[in-house]
Amino acid sequence: MKVFLNPGHDQLDLAGTPDYDPGAVNEEMGLYENEVAAAIGELVANYLVAAGCTVKSLQHESLSKIYDTANDWGADLFVSIHCNAYVNPAANGTETLYYPTDKEGMELADCINNQIVNTFDITDRGIKQRTDLAVLNGTDMPAVLVETAFISNPDDAIILRDQQDEMARAIARGVTDYISGC
Ligand SMILES: [Zn+2]
Repeated sequence: MKVFLNPGHDQLDLAGTPDYDPGAVNEEMGLYENEVAAAIGELVANYLVAAGCTVKSLQHESLSKIYDTANDWGADLFVSIHCNAYVNPAANGTETLYYPTDKEGMELADCINNQIVNTFDITDRGIKQRTDLAVLNGTDMPAVLVETAFISNPDDAIILRDQQDEMARAIARGVTDYISGC
C-alpha cells in the first residue's frame, strides 16, 4: 500500500522566500501550522512504514506539484495534514475533508476522523465534503485532508503542541483501519 502524505503549507526552509506560507499561526503560543503539520507528518510516516506501508511525503508551495507527484507515483491513498483556524478562538475540534464523489475517500476520512476524536477530548466536527481543495480535486486516488485541531483554540493548540505523537498515531491507525476495512 502506497500512502502519500502532504503536511500542509510550506516547508520551514522556505522561510524568507517570496510568498512563504506558514499556514495558520498561533502567535501567543508560537505555533505555526506548517511546523506542526511537518512534525506530525514525519511521525505518521514512521508509523505507516512500521505497519508495512510505502510512504512518500511532500510539503511544498505548489499544490499542483503535490497532486501531480502523488498521481505520478501511483499512490493508493493520499492524506493531507493541516491545522484549522478561525477568528473566534472558541472554534475547536477535528474535521476530515474529502471530495464528494470520492466514496473511498469518505471511508478513509471516517476512519481517520474516528481515531482522532476517540483519542483526544476534542470536539467531533465530523467528515465534510469539499469541492474547492486542489489536493482533493487533483488527486486520482482516495484522498483526504485532515484538519487535526484548531491552532487558534487554546485547548486544541495544547494538543497540537504537546501531543503530536498521539495525533500521528491516531492518523496512522485511521489509515490502517481503512486498509483493513474499518
Ligand atoms: Zn492548512
